Amino acid sequence: MIVEVINTGTELLLGEILNTNFQYLSQELNRRGYDVLFQTTVGDNEKRLQDVLQIAWQRADIVITTGGLGPTRGDITKEVVASCLGLPLEMDDESLQRIQGFFANRGAVMPKNNLKQALKPLGAVILKNDTGTAPGLAVEHGKNLTVLLPGPPNEMKHVFKNAVLPFLEHKFLQQGIIQSRVLKLRGIGESTVAEKLDDIILAQSNPTIAIYARSGEIVIRITAKGSNESEAEVLINGMAERVERRLEGKIYGSDGESLPQKLGNELLKRKCSIAFAESCTGGLASSMLTDIPGSSEYLLGSVVSYSNMAKEKVLNVSSASLHKYGAVSEQVAIEMAEGVRLLLGTSLGVSITGIAGPGGGTSDKPVGLVYIAVSSPYGTVWKKLNFSGTRTDNKLRSALNAFSLALDKLTEEF
Ligand code: AMP
Ligand code: MG
Repeated sequence: MIVEVINTGTELLLGEILNTNFQYLSQELNRRGYDVLFQTTVGDNEKRLQDVLQIAWQRADIVITTGGLGPTRGDITKEVVASCLGLPLEMDDESLQRIQGFFANRGAVMPKNNLKQALKPLGAVILKNDTGTAPGLAVEHGKNLTVLLPGPPNEMKHVFKNAVLPFLEHKFLQQGIIQSRVLKLRGIGESTVAEKLDDIILAQSNPTIAIYARSGEIVIRITAKGSNESEAEVLINGMAERVERRLEGKIYGSDGESLPQKLGNELLKRKCSIAFAESCTGGLASSMLTDIPGSSEYLLGSVVSYSNMAKEKVLNVSSASLHKYGAVSEQVAIEMAEGVRLLLGTSLGVSITGIAGPGGGTSDKPVGLVYIAVSSPYGTVWKKLNFSGTRTDNKLRSALNAFSLALDKLTEEF
């Protein structure tokens, strides 16, 4: 069943608001086996909306619009659909009563403008909206089904969940199911992953796999289509095992699992503790770890040592190292990690020092140069990293790499 989503609203075309309605609809529909193959955004313009509808009806079975069901003159979706299909608009008494009730509940009288929200194209099915004034509508014509949804995301979701889905299920039965799993990687680059999986990717059909970068991490998405959930699950498991064999040790989790969460769990398991000495990340790594409920069990504290003075006074970094090698150096990273571990008496001390950018780089220490180190009673390891992103990206990737190095040391030594 081919679906096209048409999102209306000039504000979308101006880039003023993000088209989150499409993201929601495509996820919900794909998961249920509908093939969402087209998406069009169109402004609040009668002629262009007509054109877009005509194209959509030719290439899709189900056309879903969002927006333009409001009470103003600019809200034209229903009127345009009705006129394209040659359907007169008629008053729907039940909708009218509901809209009047909506205002009465707020101690107000319905403005005249809202009358038009109770109109429906002849023969249309009302998709009830309990969260706002504009009901959704379903119109069947020829081989097409056209569904009109309100624009405000909370109303759109409400009508979709409570009225559109039951309507679609009743009409088209189950379309099969599409399910995805995201595998999360650490300590490996995107191109190496692509190389290692090249033949699998070339031969893919069902499940399909895709490699991409998301929030500073490389992830692999496996997507399977099955007639039901367990069939899709079996297909995904098979592919996940193949991928895991190829990428031995590089996959740390799946779906909702995050790297700080993984590190936290491993610390808990071993009854180990951790502290951070953060320079260029300014506390980001500590903050990400404290996003995890229960992190007070293992994160004893951190030092944001943004100046040389703080590195010396709080972390006991030697002024000789600072002068000889500079704050962004392996020597200082090592001393920071050892310093914070001894200061707070933790199993691991983790340090991050680097140049987040955009300014502050030199030819031998360019923007994006970051040193991280992890110290334990058994010794200290360090790593030099070179990033080329924005300040925000560089900080995030520094923190993620520090988690990864800490995780390696933890699992090797404790
Ligand atoms: P409308 O029903 O077209 O008047 O839309 C009402 C409001 O809903 C707009 O002003 C936007 O704030 C929001 N909205 C409309 N379409 C979308 C969309 N595709 N994604 C996210 N928000 C939307
Ligand atoms: Mg609008």
